[in-house]
This record gives sequence, C-alpha cells and structure tokens, in this order.
Amino acid sequence: MSRSPLERTTSRQTRWPFGTLLSFLKELLRAGGSLLDEREGGRSSVLDDPLCSACQTGAVTTQDFLQDIDGELVALRRDLHQIPEVGLDLPQTQARVLAALDGLPLEITLGTTCSSVVAILRGGKQTDGDRDVVLLRGDMDALPVEELTGLDYASTNGNMHACGHDLHMSLLVGAARALCDVRDQLAGDVIFMFQPGEEGVDGCRYMLEEGLLQIAGARPTAAYAIHVWSSLDPLGTFSTKPGPIMASSDVARVTVVGHGGHGSAPHLAKDPVPALAEMVTGTHSLVTRGFDIFDPVVVTVGLLQAGTIANVIPEDGRFEATLRTFSDAAHTKLLAELPKMVEGIAAAHGVSAHYDLLEQYPVTVNDAEHADLVAEVAAELFGEDRHSRWEAPLAGAEDFSRILEEVPGCFIGLSACPADLDPKTAPFNHSAYARFDDSVVADGALILAELARKKLV
Ligand SMILES: [Zn+2]
Ligand SMILES: [Zn+2]
Repeated sequence: MSRSPLERTTSRQTRWPFGTLLSFLKELLRAGGSLLDEREGGRSSVLDDPLCSACQTGAVTTQDFLQDIDGELVALRRDLHQIPEVGLDLPQTQARVLAALDGLPLEITLGTTCSSVVAILRGGKQTDGDRDVVLLRGDMDALPVEELTGLDYASTNGNMHACGHDLHMSLLVGAARALCDVRDQLAGDVIFMFQPGEEGVDGCRYMLEEGLLQIAGARPTAAYAIHVWSSLDPLGTFSTKPGPIMASSDVARVTVVGHGGHGSAPHLAKDPVPALAEMVTGTHSLVTRGFDIFDPVVVTVGLLQAGTIANVIPEDGRFEATLRTFSDAAHTKLLAELPKMVEGIAAAHGVSAHYDLLEQYPVTVNDAEHADLVAEVAAELFGEDRHSRWEAPLAGAEDFSRILEEVPGCFIGLSACPADLDPKTAPFNHSAYARFDDSVVADGALILAELARKKLV
C-alpha cells in the first residue's frame, strides 16, 4: 500500500489507553463526575454531559463489557497472528474465528467459494415494517511475507499478518460479543462479515456473489469497516474522511511483439524495445497531460522486460503497470485512454501490442453522513483528540469499496502504531517489520459496536 502524494494534516493527538480510560471512567462514576475536570484541566467529556447519548444508551456498559474481555481479544489476535494464511482459503483462520464466536446467539453461514464466515445477530426489539441491517466487516487474510518483527508471538510459517487483519478479526469478534450482550436493545440486525482474500484476490466479490447483501433477509442500510495502520497517526487515532478514502486499483499488462534480428541491423528487424520505452514514458505523459491535477492519477510501471543480450534484437517484450485513481471519471478515462496510447505507439513502430487489463478494486468512497457519524462517535467515546479527519485519501486500495458501492457507510482507519515508534517513520503495513499494538483492539470493537447500536436503537 502506498501513500498518497498529497499532504494530510493531523490534529494533535493524545493516546488514552483503553484500560486506563475504563478504570478512569469507573473512578469518575464513583466520584460523581468531578475527576475529569481536575485531571484534564476542565476539558469537557462525554461523561460530563447529562444528555450524552453514550451515557444514556449504555455505551459505558459496553465499554465495561469490552474491558472485561480485552485480554481474551488480545489473546485471540495473537493466536491468529501465529497462523497467518494467504488468499481465499484460510481453514485454520476460519476455525479460530468460529471457535471465538461459539456459543453466541448468531446465525452462522460459511462461504462455499472461499472460507468466509458470515454471522448474523437478530436484534431483540420488535419493529413495524422493514428492519435496519448494519454490516460490519473484518478481513482475514495475511501476506506472503517472512516476519522480521522479533515479537515473541511472531509468525514462523512464512506468511505474516503484515496488514493487521488479525486485529480486524479480533475487534470484530469483540464487537459481536458486545452487541450480543445488548441484543435486547437492538431494533434491527447486524451482519458480521469475516472476509478472506482482501490482499489482491477480491474476496469481497466472492462473498457478494454468494449473496452477502441478501443473507439477512433485508439489504444492509449501513456498513462499516476498520483498518489498522502500523504508522501514519499516533496510537489510538481514528481517522476517516468523506468521499474517496482509498484509490481504485487495476493492472495493465502489455506485450509488444516485433521481429527479432541482429543488433547490428535493426533496419531488417522490428525492434520492440524502443516501442516499449516510448510506451513507458507515454504512460507518464498521459497522466500529466491528460488528467486534472486535482483529480489525481498514479501510474507506475513496476515491471519491464525485453531481450537477453546486447547484440540481439528480441522478438518481444512486456511491461506491467499499476493504475490508481480517486474518482469514477478518472478511472473510466484512464482505462479508455491507456490502450489507445499503447496501440498508437505500436502502430508508429510497426509492431503489435497486446493490452490486457486486470481490473482489481474500485475507489473506496465514504458516505459523508456516515463519515460525520464516525467522527462524532469517536469524539463521544474517546475525545476529540482521538479523531483525525484526513484531507487526502491513501493511494492504496481496498475491496470494501465493493460494499460501499452498494451500501452507504464508512471505511475507518485506526492507528496501531506502537507508542515507542514515531508514526512518521514506523514501518508501514506490508513491511516484514510492521508492528501493530493490539491495545487498540477493544477500542476498535467499541466504536463498531456503538456505530451499529446507534443505527439500530
Ligand atoms: Zn494490505
Ligand atoms: Zn489490509
């Protein structure tokens, strides 16, 4: 995953560890609400506000509940960290998730085309007419990376949860347990979506094709997912923005076929190499000359191959490029213009070009109202300084985008950057050295549970 070239700003952040927060809340409740003012220099808190929805509707109880099971959630995350599996078929991971959900009042459906787990919680309140359904997603897959963190629970099987999906599963289990605990308050249903294959193999599409959005009987009316970062923001910071938050991602594969020959007599051959070279520079010219700089496009040629030795003109050569955009308009235009550029250059050189597009993920677009709700709930639960509103998206991609194309909702970032590292320089997701502090798991569970509960009470 790569950073956007655009600058982001982050407000001052203060980490308030969950355990500290909970013991403090308990102390505060015992002391009649005066402690916060003394300790925080009068900073207002959700608990000072008698109208605070979190106080009235039981969020503190949910916080207590999650604090009580925090050790189990961390243990689950570390178990999962030691059995990382890659792709769509994750049998051990699926079994561990099922064991963690065992005994809860959930309707469980397992995937048939991938090892997904869908768990539905039916709220206990009767409703007139349609019931709202909230979808909460956690991805399950790891990466083929040899772990180099040196952690005592590091993976040793050649794969690594280097994108933090082990935390996602654990916090989604936490949210499921917390919402089961307040099931009677819920006038609607919750889908817990445990998804394999996020890392480039489009697991979300498999689940959609298996009927994910119909599985609860009514389509979801809101959808949320958390992604943890091992850097970017200070530990415990929730982040989001309205509109595009992650890029679209596609791969263009181009093979140029000419006619090989002796390096001393190029006029007797059709050399594919200069055509390839022009195509590589042409992609960059296309980006800078053909697109609005305020609707960014990123094209990177990461693979370029031709020939074997200096004095032989090869028969063919190829390149592959990753394509990133942040709007449907730029996406559509890039996919239309790139093959035209390739064909034009090939024709000018008298060679042929085969253009192949591997479509991956669309732009991840947050609904503005849901992004505002996330900011509001994060501030209510954890304080204003635990939320960062990003000004620019990341240029990485996410298949939760497929859910947000169908259901309004929000993709939420959560920093799990260890407190002993600088968020600006700590190894980022996908690094063999990336470390994720699992003290944020209970907080992640809490915000997902609270977002769902707000939609369903
Ligand atoms: Zn990743
Ligand atoms: Zn990821």
